[in-house]
Amino acid sequence: MRPVDKGNGANYTNYQDAKQDLVNQLGAYCCYCERRIPTNIAVEHILPKDPALGYMHLRNNWDNFLLGCVNCNSAKSTKIIDLGTHLLPDRDNTFVVYIYEETGSVEINPQLDQNLASMATKTLDLVALNRNDCHNWDDTILFSALERFSQRVQAWVQAKQAREDYDRGQVNIRRICAEAASTGFFSIWMAAFEGISAVRLELIRVFPNTAPDCFDQNGEVVSPRPRNRLQNSGKS
Ligand SMILES: [Zn+2]
Repeated sequence: MRPVDKGNGANYTNYQDAKQDLVNQLGAYCCYCERRIPTNIAVEHILPKDPALGYMHLRNNWDNFLLGCVNCNSAKSTKIIDLGTHLLPDRDNTFVVYIYEETGSVEINPQLDQNLASMATKTLDLVALNRNDCHNWDDTILFSALERFSQRVQAWVQAKQAREDYDRGQVNIRRICAEAASTGFFSIWMAAFEGISAVRLELIRVFPNTAPDCFDQNGEVVSPRPRNRLQNSGKS
């Protein structure tokens, strides 16, 4: 899950007005599953916007926004999450905690300590990244969920092909990263180019506002994120 630097938004009277600012800042990618969603991406509320649930004061608050696809949004639904026990891509180093398998499944990095592994699992379950069904999904969303899974497999095929071409000296870094940006799935491309600093640094650059403090000068992961605010278990 790509960690991002969201920066500061404006004051909004309607959260929908934040969508273009979020896309400008983060690119049109789902913040949870990393899919590229050129149209129909939605402003995702980390804490739910439903007036009955007690977070109305965060309804139009930038700190409470991410971008989400229809599957991640509806899997998360109106769940009230404990910010202290989940990982968030605009706050934590969410890159290091997941392993993206070529089969399409997303696994917890086995090297994590128990506490971090537990938080990573909760976030994975929150948006049902490995599932193709959820109680509130209709047929349209189910179809989209199957796509979400199979798109990861497809991204791996593309990224591996690009890696092979790169190793043979047949394709340049700019073209590889342009293809990655148009495909989405930052983490899969980063995994496919493990150990190739020049490509990883360019991937970090072309996916807008990938959190720079989560990676070192060679594109290797820095964890925990230096600005990690988990200590106070909350977002400002
Ligand atoms: Zn998504």
